[in-house]
This record gives sequence, structure tokens and C-alpha cells, in this order.
Amino acid sequence: MKLMRNTLAAAALLGAQALLFSMHADAAAADQCKLEITGNDMMQYDKKELDVPADCTQVTVTLHHSGKLPKQAMGHNWVLVNASDLTAVANAGMSAGLESDYVPSGDKRVLAHTKVIGGGEKTAVTFPTSILKKGGSYMYLCTFPGHNALMRGAFKFG
Ligand code: ZN
Repeated sequence: MKLMRNTLAAAALLGAQALLFSMHADAAAADQCKLEITGNDMMQYDKKELDVPADCTQVTVTLHHSGKLPKQAMGHNWVLVNASDLTAVANAGMSAGLESDYVPSGDKRVLAHTKVIGGGEKTAVTFPTSILKKGGSYMYLCTFPGHNALMRGAFKFG
């Protein structure tokens, strides 16, 4: 019984530490590490490029949808890939379908992604920059079928 109590206490302590750590990490992240991008009903993002300073340890990308159309008709997501994987990921995403947010599950070529949202919604993704190489060539895209031709941009780290 004593052992179980100790185990529970240790688990609670670990949980508290994890919470404190994540709060601390959030507080330490400069505003520059938090990016905003908006998609609209015209199948466009409002930015052609996103830049992340080299000293960001993590990045949060918030995607807004300023349109009115539902996600079944004009859904948008934000998917980060190596530039050379863009077309392959777009094609694989199309097959994955809306229920999978047009992102193939477990696909290592997908570095980070949000879910698909419709008009008036927003969503965000946070990921560590340890998955990126400084000066690497990255791109983001919307993997809703047909959107990546217009909805893509350069993602620069460092
Ligand atoms: Zn889209």
C-alpha cells in the first residue's frame, strides 16, 4: 500500500513537472516563434513565406480560415515538408481523405501538420525545431485535393 502511494505521488510529481516545463517553454518562446497564417475561400494563404529565427526551440503555427465555406468544400490545413517531398505528400494526402485531414498517417515525410478546418475556424500546431536543419529547404502546403498548386510557401529556419 505504501509502495502504491509512493508510486502515485511520484506520478503526480512527474505530471506537475511536465506541466511546469511546458508552461516554462511557452513563456520562454519569443513572439517570433509563433507564426500566424490565414487561408480564405479563394484557395489562398495570405503568406508566401514563413521565417523562424534560429534561436526558437519550438514553433507554433496558427492557421486561420477567414472564409465562410465548410471544410468539405474549401478545407485548409498547414503541412510542413522537405521541399523535395511536396508533390509526393500532396498526392498521398489526397488518398488519405478528409477523415485523416488529408495527411497519410505515420508518414515520416510530414514534419508537422494541423487538422483541416473550414471557414471561421482556427487551429494550431506546435513542434520542436530539433526536427529541422538550419538553412534547410522546407515548404508548407495545404493538402486538401488540388489546393497545393496555389496554397504553398517557403518555410525558413535560421
Ligand atoms: Zn486548402
